[in-house]
Amino acid sequence: MAAETPLGAASPFDMRVGLGADIPERTVREALASGDMGFLHSYTTGSTVDGPGVRVVAWTTGCMWRCRYCHNPDTWTVTNGIPVSLVRAADELRKYRHGLQAMAGGFTLSGGEPLMQHRFAARLLAAARGMGIHTTMETNGHYGDRLSDDEIRTIDLVMLGLKTWDPARHRDLTGRDVGPTLEFARRLAGLRRPMWIRFVLVPGLTDDPDDMARSAAFAASLGTVERVEVLPFHQMGKFKWERLGLAYALSEVEPPTAEQTERACAVWRAAGLYAS
Ligand code: SF4
Repeated sequence: MAAETPLGAASPFDMRVGLGADIPERTVREALASGDMGFLHSYTTGSTVDGPGVRVVAWTTGCMWRCRYCHNPDTWTVTNGIPVSLVRAADELRKYRHGLQAMAGGFTLSGGEPLMQHRFAARLLAAARGMGIHTTMETNGHYGDRLSDDEIRTIDLVMLGLKTWDPARHRDLTGRDVGPTLEFARRLAGLRRPMWIRFVLVPGLTDDPDDMARSAAFAASLGTVERVEVLPFHQMGKFKWERLGLAYALSEVEPPTAEQTERACAVWRAAGLYAS
């Protein structure tokens, strides 16, 4: 039974499809509305790249964007994930509570896009905070308006994906407008919430220096961005596009070189931000 599927995965690059497909549509709708149940690709433990310190990461399923360079397209569909009660998800996290506190780490909710399941996301993050665990949410920010200010305050750090400044390019890259992401960033800044910016460097798609400089100027203007992570594009998700029968336009794109990545970091640093 899908409900008994182990939550653990060696990495988010494990392919997971249809694990919640047996759940009736009405139950899915009710779960999304209440947050009593969520859909997770997996939990991974011991991550050192998804926020400060050592992290337990819950990867949600569901995303409203269709980034051309997404490396986990199996997470686009909510019901590809494992149906997990909020109680089970919190219990899983509780197992690691003392270790995470000892290692100055915490819990990261990522995806997919966590705010596709905004009630579940808000309640699980609040549960983590209630256990004394540092909380991080990685998000594209598109549905940021679905969280109340109080819910936002239960999130110690938001890792916000910023793809491009240019509206037309953003729509071409993701299928959606950049406006809601920028609006969420401004709101986070207004609430004085710490932010890390995540920027995926894709040669020929996101590496325009002027475009990066505009994104950097915006990020710097917020006043609460602690760091910028420039993430070199890679091809580790290519097999998922192929197995899902999706047209993948980036087959021939090479990952950026170390020099290209460093040049991109320099653009963000020129705006006064810490970038690596
Ligand atoms: S926002 Fe993230 S999960 Fe969604 S399509 Fe883009 S890269 Fe994939």
